[in-house]
Amino acid sequence: MSVVMWFRRDLRRQDNPALNAAIAHAALTDSAVTPMVMIDDSMWPGWNQAKQYYLSQSLHDLNQNLDGTLVVRHGNPSEQVVEVARSVGATSVHIAADFTPEGMARDAAVEAELGKLGIQLVRTGSFYAISPGRVTKPDTTPYKVYTPFYKAWLAHGWRQPAEAVHTTKWNRTKLGHGIPAVQAPTHVQLPPAGESAALARFREFIANDVREYDTLRDRADLNRTSHLSVHLKWGEIHPRTILAELGDSNGEEIFRKEIAWREFYADVLFHNPHTLTEYLNPQFATMRYDTGTIAEQRFEAWKQGRTGFPFVDAGMRQLLNEGWMHNRVRMVVASFLVKDLHLEWQQGAAWFFEQLIDADLASNQHGWQWTAGCGTDASPYFRIFNPMSQGLKFDPSGDYVRRYIPELRHIEGSAVHEPWKCFDGYSHDYPAPIVDHAAERAESLARYAEMKNS
Ligand code: FAD
Repeated sequence: MSVVMWFRRDLRRQDNPALNAAIAHAALTDSAVTPMVMIDDSMWPGWNQAKQYYLSQSLHDLNQNLDGTLVVRHGNPSEQVVEVARSVGATSVHIAADFTPEGMARDAAVEAELGKLGIQLVRTGSFYAISPGRVTKPDTTPYKVYTPFYKAWLAHGWRQPAEAVHTTKWNRTKLGHGIPAVQAPTHVQLPPAGESAALARFREFIANDVREYDTLRDRADLNRTSHLSVHLKWGEIHPRTILAELGDSNGEEIFRKEIAWREFYADVLFHNPHTLTEYLNPQFATMRYDTGTIAEQRFEAWKQGRTGFPFVDAGMRQLLNEGWMHNRVRMVVASFLVKDLHLEWQQGAAWFFEQLIDADLASNQHGWQWTAGCGTDASPYFRIFNPMSQGLKFDPSGDYVRRYIPELRHIEGSAVHEPWKCFDGYSHDYPAPIVDHAAERAESLARYAEMKNS
């Protein structure tokens, strides 16, 4: 007899309540724990090499932490999880609850199949400090705006991190199909994956950067954010572990608020599953957007970091080179796509989701909707980021642009944000701007007025 622990976005030993529940259940029935992971056929082939490689490395780390007993199955979860549970004679399969629309549908399907064999699917904890749906207004309706959500989230509070349990027996089986062999990408620089890498990154950030986070987090050139997003995405660290270490300095306070944005967006998506693809504010679906050949060419230039706007292009090339982008720059490139190129947010969100190693449905779709003006808290539509002044303010040294755009490395200081003002700005094949920002800003505001008046 055995108990199955199905790891998903919780690839760690420490502070893992679902794993602890599996271990406790195994202890009660004097059985061993079979740890497993799914490589889902409906998703894996669509991932780029960087994402596949990162996950494969994280699975190697987890497998090592489980004494080499991790069962990795490839295929459809409804068949594979049931097959593993049946083969080891499990009475229960343990998971951390997933609150995304797709995750909930998948888990319900697995639960139904397990139920046919009398095996229970047990949900303990989630990928959040407070599970989506728990923080509500006094009248039990969900919050639609971040600040009151944040206050209620703080007042609700969360449990202390769960201690890791080291006394279990792992079931050694031959049921696994193996961790997929993925070649390390040569074109993308990735951070180290796994629980120990996540904890090391977190300790480094707490020791060196968190106290200045309030003043320096927006400086793209200084790179002073935590880079924990990919570790949070895969649950190599739990947000509660992070929150438990934060004190009351201004930097720590603002950092806690950022962790809460992740929780807020998960809550918003949970209550509005249609917003994975649709506008939270449906009126924006009626706005005029550009389509056709020129729109497609502009979209391609944006994706490749060749719009001729240095701060935008540096961000898009950081995404291509690292599978990650600084938050301030994410906002600027997203605003540029929607308000300068007049494309729909879903196009940009799909490209981000494909490229980001921290791709998270709730944070990505709602980060995009917020910037596009159709989401929660709606950053007012008429707040249109100026890519030049954003660059000058948040990359005042120009180092960020020079780091990612070799064609502009010959320009010193902040002048790099405006190559059109330099006599040799275009001597290394950097493209001229594909649009006129002032004209597109006016066009955007006209389309907004048209939508509002229709
Ligand atoms: P830090 O500044 O160190 O913040 C710490 C943690 O707080 C982050 O790791 C993240 O978990 C959370 N956080 C910070 N800012 C936000 C935010 N605005 N929304 C939600 N959570 C936040 N984040 C993702 O994790 N995955 C995505 O797919 C994603 N897509 C985005 C798309 C757009 C258009 C925008 C504007 C933002 C997006 N974000 C996304 C949020 C944010 O940009 C990243 O979380 C952040 O840049 C990650 O870097 P970091 O870990 O160094 O962040």
